[in-house]
Amino acid sequence: MTPHPDLARYAYDESDQDMLNVGWLASERGHRTEIVDERVLDVLKILSAAYDNQMRDFHLCRFCDICRPVVLGGPAGNTEVWLGSAEIRVQGADGTHYAAPNLVIHYIAEHRYCPPEEFCRAAVRTAGIEAAGELTLAD
Ligand SMILES: [Zn+2]
Repeated sequence: MTPHPDLARYAYDESDQDMLNVGWLASERGHRTEIVDERVLDVLKILSAAYDNQMRDFHLCRFCDICRPVVLGGPAGNTEVWLGSAEIRVQGADGTHYAAPNLVIHYIAEHRYCPPEEFCRAAVRTAGIEAAGELTLAD
C-alpha cells in the first residue's frame, strides 16, 4: 500500500470525486497517536460493511504480523468485515469527501493512530449519528 499523507488529495484509484486521504500510513512513527473516541471506531465499523471501492488484493498491516484482521461491522455489528481490501468513504458537513483504507479501523484500535478530526466528524455524520456536534475528541 502506497503511503499518502493525511488530507492530501486522494489519488490511489481513479475517481470522479475529489477526495482527501486519511489513514494511508507509511510508518508507525509518522502518524499522530492519541486515544480516539470510541464512537468514531463504532461508526467506522458500521460504515466498513459497505466495502467501498473493494480491491482485488489484500493490503496487510505494515506494523504487525496480523494477517487479514477482521472486525464485526455493519449497522447491527454482526457482519464480518475483512480489513485491507476496501475503503471507507465519508463526507463532511462542508461537502469534503474522504477516503480511508478500511485498515484504518485496525490502525486506530491496535496502533493508536488518530485520524484528523474533520475525518472523524465526517465519519460520524455519514453514519447518521445526530450527536455529531457533541462528539468530544481528545485534544
Ligand atoms: Zn497492525
